[in-house]
Amino acid sequence: MRATRLLAGLGLAAAGVIAGVATWIATPLPSGLTAPDVRPAAAILDRHGLPLRTARAADGSLARWVPLADVDPDLIAAFVAAEDRAFYRHPGVDLRAAARAAWTNLRARRVVSGASTITMQLARLLRPGDRTWPGKLYQVVWALRLERHQDKQTILEQYLNRVPLGQAAVGVDAAAALYFGASAADVSLGQAALLAGIAPAPSSDNPLISPGRARIRRTLVLARVAASGYASSDAAARAAQEPVLARESRADFLAPHFTTRLLARDEPPAGGLWRTPLDLPLQTALEAEARHTVETLRREGARQAALVVLDNPTGEILAWVGSPDFWADTAGQVDMVVSPRQPGSALKPFLYGLAFDRGWSPADVLPDLPRIFQTSTGPYAPRNYDRRFHGPVRLREALASSFNVPAVELVDRVGQGSLLSTLRRAGFESLDRSAEYYGLGLALGNGDVTLIELANGYRAIASGGVWRPVRWRVSAPDERAEPGRRVMSERAAALVLDILADPVARIPGFGLDTPLDFPFVVAAKTGTSRHFTDNWAVATTGRFTVAVWVGNFSGRPMDGVSGVSGAGPLLHRAVLLTADRYPAGVLPTPREAGTVPVRICRLSGLLATDRCPAMIEWVQPDQAPTRSCDWHAGDGVRLPPEYAEWAGQEAARMSATEAGASAASAPARPAPARPSPAAEPASIPDTPRSRSAPAGAAPAPSGGSWTAERSPRVAGRSGPGCTSSAPWQGAGPGIPRGSRWSEGSRLLRAGPG
Ligand SMILES: [Zn+2]
Repeated sequence: MRATRLLAGLGLAAAGVIAGVATWIATPLPSGLTAPDVRPAAAILDRHGLPLRTARAADGSLARWVPLADVDPDLIAAFVAAEDRAFYRHPGVDLRAAARAAWTNLRARRVVSGASTITMQLARLLRPGDRTWPGKLYQVVWALRLERHQDKQTILEQYLNRVPLGQAAVGVDAAAALYFGASAADVSLGQAALLAGIAPAPSSDNPLISPGRARIRRTLVLARVAASGYASSDAAARAAQEPVLARESRADFLAPHFTTRLLARDEPPAGGLWRTPLDLPLQTALEAEARHTVETLRREGARQAALVVLDNPTGEILAWVGSPDFWADTAGQVDMVVSPRQPGSALKPFLYGLAFDRGWSPADVLPDLPRIFQTSTGPYAPRNYDRRFHGPVRLREALASSFNVPAVELVDRVGQGSLLSTLRRAGFESLDRSAEYYGLGLALGNGDVTLIELANGYRAIASGGVWRPVRWRVSAPDERAEPGRRVMSERAAALVLDILADPVARIPGFGLDTPLDFPFVVAAKTGTSRHFTDNWAVATTGRFTVAVWVGNFSGRPMDGVSGVSGAGPLLHRAVLLTADRYPAGVLPTPREAGTVPVRICRLSGLLATDRCPAMIEWVQPDQAPTRSCDWHAGDGVRLPPEYAEWAGQEAARMSATEAGASAASAPARPAPARPSPAAEPASIPDTPRSRSAPAGAAPAPSGGSWTAERSPRVAGRSGPGCTSSAPWQGAGPGIPRGSRWSEGSRLLRAGPG
């Protein structure tokens, strides 16, 4: 009895709700709800107000409303086949599709399948809601109401003019203009299927962001179009062969990777002009340099290059080249500024900065000796690019010359977890795995990072060790003082910059006159991933940071192209071109940061005696060496016992080399033996030259000798040749094309010998 009454009450309530909803559905639509909505397309401008992209319709208007009669029938067929096969038969809701979707969603316990009809999608465009169950019900009743008051043709016209199709294109006409330079009145079957295919996920699947996904989506839609009987399977197969983009580089589509990325992350201001910090003249010059670089390196197997330039004080993006040719059909739309790849040695400055904050100084010596590290993934024996070990190396030399073994030794001592958190504070969000996953190889760049992360990380070092985000919009003056995130101390940052700007400390690893030398102060570093797949070079001045990548999207190795010979020349020209427009400024110096000068021994890093080859090093006030060098005693060098075996091998090797060299009258700078990538799985190469190169260039002075044999190692350290100025000194900016780096790696690799 009670149950019956309850049921009756529930039934009455349900009937009441249904009657209420039915009345609401019968109520005429609000006036103006479906009035044609023509929003002017946003124009993206550079920092000078020059237009980068304007999304005009094919007839030249900023945007237009297209009557259904003017829409290409292929478009209508493709959208109906892809989105709503029963469109012409259902009352706004497709009950069979909804039942199927409900079952799928119940099993998944969330909304995975929408079963949204075109009418329901239009309801969501007119009355935005969320993808929850209540939101879905709201859409359903709105769809019923729309169908009650409008015919199918009107609903279709509304939908096709309002559907977002990526990159701020709203409606099929704007999208056809953007992707194909066409109008909604006249598209091919393949173009129609592509637009219908990207409608479910337009920001990620559009052909500017992901041509591959757009192609897959198009194939699926073409299959449905063929199944619907609208087109033959032959016609569908032909349409699947069309290019996914049909546009040429055009005056209203400049800095294409930058504007594409901008529209993928931000909504344009309604109908407004969108001022960005990009510098179009600089951008155009750097795009030409990227193309020139891949032409030069074609024989070495490098097909792609990318670069990005940041303004240091503000973080504003000044230039962004994601690939040499955006419109190339072989993946020109891939954007290497934001694609994660292995950075090789380019992350080492963050390791050394961390070490300086942990009490190490640039004068401290690390052993560069054969050693096997026990790691969670097994034993690990790091090697240097030149396949040699350099004995005792000071931190300054180890970083500037990019030796691998001391870097692994250092990360083993400071801890890979500490390094990983330093890198994350420096903005490397792509490093999203655990410290154990990367292991000690993190010091040698075995984790994937992006070029923009790398540029902004170096910008943090140049900004006194404080990281702040990059800016996609011209920043207001009050935004520049925001607090930011400390990556390393001001002193550690100044020491790292001083080392990266030190052409002498680079000599043992890179030799004289590298493309990292400039006529003004620049802190620069290169990196090369395993198997020569990726080349990196980053440079930062007081004013700006330039980061460069050279390689292949496919991951195919290059033919011995390293960070110095591949990305280096492009970096060199990009820095000079940027300095033409933005004076380089000055980097923070160790003295300003509060470190003190100490006269140390070049070999031991201890306080220099009058027997030592001496140099001035900067150290934190409480970290100056207190002990005088006892390695230089009498007329020889007495190394600590751990170096004895290495010193003996080195002496034997050098005497053999010298004998062989004089017999064959070899050039002063023998070409480096190019390591076979396959034979070197454990090492991440960086430097293209063997260590013997600088030794040959620098005449050996007297006084530096082992107890056993004269060694070029000591010669290189104390030789007056080390301090000779690089050929770049005195050369002004703006002469990049005629410079010797302009011919890329060939000249460099051949060298003067
Ligand atoms: Zn000494």
